[in-house]
Amino acid sequence: MLSINLRHLEEAELALRGELPVAELDLGLADELIRVEKPLRYDLKAELLHEAVLVTGSLVLPLECECSRCLKKFPTRLHLKDWAVHLPLAGEDKVSVDNDCVDLTPFVREDILLNFPQHPLCKTECAGLTKPENDRKDEVAESAAANVWVELDKLKLK
Ligand SMILES: [Zn+2]
Repeated sequence: MLSINLRHLEEAELALRGELPVAELDLGLADELIRVEKPLRYDLKAELLHEAVLVTGSLVLPLECECSRCLKKFPTRLHLKDWAVHLPLAGEDKVSVDNDCVDLTPFVREDILLNFPQHPLCKTECAGLTKPENDRKDEVAESAAANVWVELDKLKLK
């Protein structure tokens, strides 16, 4: 469980570093093109503000994707570099505190889902399953370039 102990936080800032298992992150994914098999890695700092906790840091979730165009499988990761969450300890929106602890998991889950890739692509210019016109042009260009080298070699030999 990814949680913050408020008693400890009253004494000093807390550094939270570790991994959250997929089962605990519990994303409830229906998308078959993206699978989450490895734990979420977090590197966070928690500090106590006036009647609130501010948590900042980075979240990294490795993903196993299937390209939505060409169906190739490829690994990628979801990286929230400057993740931040503000947790009020008083007022209407105050977070629930259980045994002096605030569970961060629901906040992490929400932002991971918000930033989840919608249509995974193995590369931005992925053309899909059929071979497009562009590829053939590239091949022609490449062989033209190769010919240039051959010509240069001939020049050198002279
Ligand atoms: Zn692709």
